[in-house]
Amino acid sequence: MHRVVVVILDGLRRDFIEAARTPNLHRFATRAASFAAHRSAFPSATRCVSATFATGCHPARHGLQGNAMALLEAGVLVPHDAGLPGFLQHKRVVTGRALAEPTLAERLAPHGGAVIFSNVSPGAAYAHDPDGFGHLHHRAGSFAPGRIPAGRLEVTLDAAGDRAMTQRFIAEALVTAPLGARRPALALLWCAEPDHIQHDQPLGSPAHLAVLAEADRNAGAVIEAIDRLRQDGDEVLLIVGSDHGHETVSGLVDVEADLIAAGLKSSRESTDIVAQSNGTSTLIYLAPERAALRPALDAFLRSRDWAGIVLDADELATVGQAPHNALAFAVSMRASAAANRYGVPGTALAAMPRAGEAHPVGAGQHGGLAAFEQSPFLMIDGDGFAPGITSARPTHIVDLAPTILTHLRLPATGMDGSALQHPPPAAA
Ligand SMILES: [Zn+2]
Repeated sequence: MHRVVVVILDGLRRDFIEAARTPNLHRFATRAASFAAHRSAFPSATRCVSATFATGCHPARHGLQGNAMALLEAGVLVPHDAGLPGFLQHKRVVTGRALAEPTLAERLAPHGGAVIFSNVSPGAAYAHDPDGFGHLHHRAGSFAPGRIPAGRLEVTLDAAGDRAMTQRFIAEALVTAPLGARRPALALLWCAEPDHIQHDQPLGSPAHLAVLAEADRNAGAVIEAIDRLRQDGDEVLLIVGSDHGHETVSGLVDVEADLIAAGLKSSRESTDIVAQSNGTSTLIYLAPERAALRPALDAFLRSRDWAGIVLDADELATVGQAPHNALAFAVSMRASAAANRYGVPGTALAAMPRAGEAHPVGAGQHGGLAAFEQSPFLMIDGDGFAPGITSARPTHIVDLAPTILTHLRLPATGMDGSALQHPPPAAA
């Protein structure tokens, strides 16, 4: 039986993988292929990346534009937090689709199914399967196929919760025989660490490295369980990676206050311009009836010292985005290669979220196009991947779904990404 098992350690930069800090991943690299030029989506933010992973398509096609985004509702821009449990259900009502492209859970429903465990935000977890084709486990509520409520995943959002979730994942999705166990075509484990600690503590600090070691142990436990599956004759493709990296926050920017001060946006509450923080990037929506403001807004954004890369509507396609919902500009905030006090390189400014509460300056953040937030790690062990090699081939989150379908001998049609097996596996 062909199966795919995916483990995501949220937010882990690939330059943190080394023998002392992540012994299990370091050892795994000797039997897996490693991808040294792997990139995240834009924004490099978990909800957006989760939908990108699930569909094998960029946000331009699946429509989950960011961790925070806006929808045009009866012609009015309405800001939304895509991390809330009800966001994709609301988006379906407004736009007709939760996600505009099919998920892996949907594609695999007639071919062995998907079991997904996620310990990140509800919105990110549900982005894997908003229409209820597989088994999805989350703190905010679990679902069986048909989106039938199936209790809740009773774990905490921290390293201890990840450990408990990993043990349940192994027991329910990977074990070989016991009654009631499911061995699906795709088993996905998405851990909250080290992202969660990195948002709170400096990168490279003792508190960060202690949690990183725990995240590495969870990956090690799954790798060990795969060995047992293979001994039982399953042909398992094991993908271990992250969704994005992190930069150190060098300062906070109130983008909307700046737009108001410049006379471009009327007030905090106005819907003429809506700027949605995605950590170290911001998405700027311009109401259709204010289209005449576009040149002034363009000039203003390009004049700001907090703006690193400014992309207008025509340039959104270069980062996998599209001007849906009146998205007019995307800005990756100014970044530098400077090191923090623990010697960890990479800083970026962060945009203040609408709700006001922001992660601390000096801790980690992500969302933009800077070098280290765009350096997730990726290791793949199985048919089509030479053990121990490091590939310099450019790879992207969108390549994972077609790689998974190819291992399962299913067509990977209609996706933006490409299967990574080399050579491609023989037909079933
Ligand atoms: Zn993440």
